[in-house]
Amino acid sequence: MPELPEVETTCRGIAPHIEGQMIKQVVIRQPKLRWPVPETLNQILTGLTIESVSRRAKYLLFSTASGTVLLHLGMSGSLRIMSTDQAVGKHDHIDFIFNDGTVLRFNDPRRFGAVLWTSEPAAEHPLLKNLGPEPLLADFNGELLYSLSRNRKTAVKSFIMNSHIVVGVGNIYANEALFMAAIQPTRPAGKVSLARYRKLAECIRVVLQQAIGQGGTTLRDFVNEAGKPGYFQQQLKVYGRTGLPCVSCNQPLTEIRIANRSTVFCGNCQR
Ligand SMILES: [Zn+2]
Repeated sequence: MPELPEVETTCRGIAPHIEGQMIKQVVIRQPKLRWPVPETLNQILTGLTIESVSRRAKYLLFSTASGTVLLHLGMSGSLRIMSTDQAVGKHDHIDFIFNDGTVLRFNDPRRFGAVLWTSEPAAEHPLLKNLGPEPLLADFNGELLYSLSRNRKTAVKSFIMNSHIVVGVGNIYANEALFMAAIQPTRPAGKVSLARYRKLAECIRVVLQQAIGQGGTTLRDFVNEAGKPGYFQQQLKVYGRTGLPCVSCNQPLTEIRIANRSTVFCGNCQR
């Protein structure tokens, strides 16, 4: 599943190709995604220019003078930049065709992705307005985690994966950040000190930045500017390494389930 680093990498990959470009046509081959694609999308977007491409949580935002396209990759979505003469494949549900012949093509085998339109400020959209801060921006920090976690008995891992607290900390990154911060994933969120939350916030940032630097973790979900898969496997220290020796102390790593998600940690290093 595309996580925040994959979406960020996609954002950076497609932006130079479509920013400043005028939309000539939108072709919708399959409108039944997670939510129906607006029937009027072609009518709305034809003639509009993409002023900027940005990301909020795992949504890509294409801003125009009249409103914003919200695009979510869902479980299996990907975007590719290509030219109009490239053959349409199975699951190629939507094409954004630009005046210069560039095509932004949305492929999504499982159809949990979304393409929506809003003429209101994007930040006010119901899908975005209640989200927590971006983990890579300054308003996310240890003080925030500490103050929001007081009296919470939920596991710290579930707490940092809650998008009302902070967006974009998926399961792999939660596992890795907790290992880096030496915090046991089952520890109640309300029992983590301010100093340890400062460390954890920094570790979340580092883990996500590393993944972005390496182009995300899941090979099959990313398609780079040239239309070729571009993700490289990140060096993961705990996730997927159940029973293998801890990179720090050599003791075997333990796997449990928290909120039904695979949770791998070192019982020796993480307290
Ligand atoms: Zn260890």
